[in-house]
Amino acid sequence: MPAARLIACHDCDLLQREVPLPAGGVATCSRCGAVLYRNSRGGRQTALALTLTAALLFAISNLYPLVSIESQGNRHATTLFGAVLTLWHEHSALIAALVFVTTLLIPALELLNMAVLLAVPRPSAALLRITLAVQPWAMVEVFMLGVLVSVAKLAHLATIVPGVALWSFGALTLLFAALTATFNPHELWRSVPVANSHAGS
Ligand SMILES: [Zn+2]
Repeated sequence: MPAARLIACHDCDLLQREVPLPAGGVATCSRCGAVLYRNSRGGRQTALALTLTAALLFAISNLYPLVSIESQGNRHATTLFGAVLTLWHEHSALIAALVFVTTLLIPALELLNMAVLLAVPRPSAALLRITLAVQPWAMVEVFMLGVLVSVAKLAHLATIVPGVALWSFGALTLLFAALTATFNPHELWRSVPVANSHAGS
């Protein structure tokens, strides 16, 4: 049997011995009750499947129009990137940059990193660290909420036709939530080669 690993509680610093968990189990600190780590159901294979599905939906969300607006016989369709460009040209550079970073750049980076981390047997500590650092900046759901509010407000001014990307974005929002629940950084840290894992755990 391998020697038991030690884990420090991130809330109270109590050093404890790791125990194997059943699927869906959660280990809590024996002093303060904080969650130390969990063994998510399905594990890595499920997380990888969810990541690849999310990547596909992300591609569809960016290739197809988000919404079409019909007003006085004119029809105008825009993709997400088209919306970013319009914002940029209308002197809303800051908002354009924010939308680009939180809705396009970071989610793309996150999905790519996660696919690599989950697919290789010995993921790199640096990649895992980057992925965990960028995760909070992916705000697909905030963007989705903004789009829905705008669509509802514009509905009485023009005819709004939801595009393919709007539906795939909706599904992507749900997938990101499922992915967050399944992605298990603790398990990945354990599979990081020991030589470069000491600084990051
Ligand atoms: Zn504790």
